[in-house]
Amino acid sequence: MKIHNFSAGPSILPPQVLLQASEAVLNFNNDNLSILEISHRSKPFVDVMEKARALALELLGLEGKGYKALFLQGGASTQFLMVALNLLEKRAGYLNTGSWSDKAIKEAKIFDDIYEVGSSKSANYNYIPKGYDIPTDYDYFHCTSNNTIFGTQIKEFPDCPIPMVCDMSSDIFSRQLDFSKFDLIYAGAQKNMGPAGTTLVVVKEDILGKVSRKIPSMMDYKVHISKSSMFNTPPVFAVYTSMLTLEWLKDLGGIKAIEKENEKKARLMYSEIDLNPLFKGFSVKEDRSYMNATFNLVDDTLKETFDTMLKEAGISGINGHRSVGGYRASMYNALSLDSVKALVEVMSELESKA
Ligand SMILES: *Cc1c(COP(=O)(O)O)cnc(C)c1O
Repeated sequence: MKIHNFSAGPSILPPQVLLQASEAVLNFNNDNLSILEISHRSKPFVDVMEKARALALELLGLEGKGYKALFLQGGASTQFLMVALNLLEKRAGYLNTGSWSDKAIKEAKIFDDIYEVGSSKSANYNYIPKGYDIPTDYDYFHCTSNNTIFGTQIKEFPDCPIPMVCDMSSDIFSRQLDFSKFDLIYAGAQKNMGPAGTTLVVVKEDILGKVSRKIPSMMDYKVHISKSSMFNTPPVFAVYTSMLTLEWLKDLGGIKAIEKENEKKARLMYSEIDLNPLFKGFSVKEDRSYMNATFNLVDDTLKETFDTMLKEAGISGINGHRSVGGYRASMYNALSLDSVKALVEVMSELESKA
């Protein structure tokens, strides 16, 4: 039976990427050696790293614009503190739109003064605050483009008078944006790019080197840039698999092409949530995420029946996060429209039964 994988992360990857990655575990580059057992300084792997870095910039439209791409370790969660260590001198502004933003704020507060320019915490993060001011004398502004847990997404980014930092872990490469509005973008690979174990950081070089503190080498973006993202042993398999996914995306026609697919999936998903009286969406309509659709059953006594039907249809990974409950359908780049159709069918079948 085909499994429709709606997992929120680690999550679905394109089948051909999984095949290529598994082949490389046994025989990489036709050298009869596994990608897991060669030096990261060998030419074949250096080529992988360089290709992955170049593809990331190319797909985002940031080539030749003063940006560098790095594949680091420690997850997006390490970026919460690395951003502050590298950029925070006096004060920074954060938009609090979900648990991930909240964690980013908590880490940055270890170092210095953080001001929340806006927050939807009191509404359990079911919307994106708007109309907030970003003080011009702050070091940077930090936001989270997509709230994986609550299912909201920033549709319009502010014209930011100071460097803009964005956690794009769960929607990077999913929609067209003017990425040059951002000075630093980071994303854990395991949502929309590859396996867990590496984090993409895209940073505009000229914002670095301005803080007075000493930064430990592993935490210093400048050190990683000067070593071409090879300061220490990189997570070779995660970088390789991410490179394959970026190649897959480029061959499809890049972000422009995948955005169209993502819009089709989200439209289908949300129209079912809105039209089927058995379900209600969690977040406000205008801020709904195209990646993670959160919804609940209106009548919880139907849960067992619905869950059984989902299982029988091969639908996997749609239980909501513990802080929201209900259901969450994650529709990352590699998820096909057919999988959303399969889910929507079960939802309408439940309606005809109830
Ligand atoms: C998953 C996620 C994180 C955490 O990523 P780790 O790689 O587990 O540290 C951070 N931010 C967002 C938006 C996420 O979706």
